[in-house]
Amino acid sequence: MIYFCEGNDKEKLDWFKIINIAGERLTDQELRNAVYTGTWLTSAKCIFSKTQCAAYNLSGKYVMGSPIRQEILQTAISWKNKGNIEEYMSVHQHDPNANELWTYFQNVINWVMLTFPKYRKEMKGIDWGKLYDTYGSNLYDTNELENCIADLMMDDDVTNKKGIYEFVLSGEERCLNIRAFIESQKRRIYEYQRGICNMCHKHFEFEKMRGDHITPWSKGGKTVDDNLQMLCEDCNRKKLNM
Ligand SMILES: [Zn+2]
Repeated sequence: MIYFCEGNDKEKLDWFKIINIAGERLTDQELRNAVYTGTWLTSAKCIFSKTQCAAYNLSGKYVMGSPIRQEILQTAISWKNKGNIEEYMSVHQHDPNANELWTYFQNVINWVMLTFPKYRKEMKGIDWGKLYDTYGSNLYDTNELENCIADLMMDDDVTNKKGIYEFVLSGEERCLNIRAFIESQKRRIYEYQRGICNMCHKHFEFEKMRGDHITPWSKGGKTVDDNLQMLCEDCNRKKLNM
């Protein structure tokens, strides 16, 4: 049975996705490659899509996935065009080669290796393109960054170790997913406070209260009972915004 598939690129891609159910399923990027064939893709596949290709040899430690399943290529385009892979492939489909993408990809990885010279396995799979676009033009003291990273890697309250790399560049604590107090700790302190909020001194049900780090993590406070107080939702919000 042969189908002749007509329509625009998006319609073709959607159709490929629908019939992609038998045998070994194609990856999303393999499907895109079937739609956006041309000179650009031929060049891109030489660089990004072979077992010992240049892109894999350069970035294998930093990027997830396999070159032959097109996952390195997918990551490169996603970094270059902020997630809009199909848009990029459509615009560049008939370019003579993929040198623009390759140059950008090398810039990202070289920046990572220069900024974070000590390799750790947590560096694999980070959205380096986003970090390069945001922070790549700043100058950092790499020794200082490394000291911060080493400390944070040992901090049990940091539950998202991959996020450390974004945190040392951005200073945004949400990257680290700081450990929250567990139910039994909060129950213990709730009983000890007799249900009274430590800030507004009113009584609340347990469900209406939040576990708060008395000394915030950023000021050296740990996620331990001695550093826990129960606050009502309003006071907790006020304190976080202070
Ligand atoms: Zn309160």
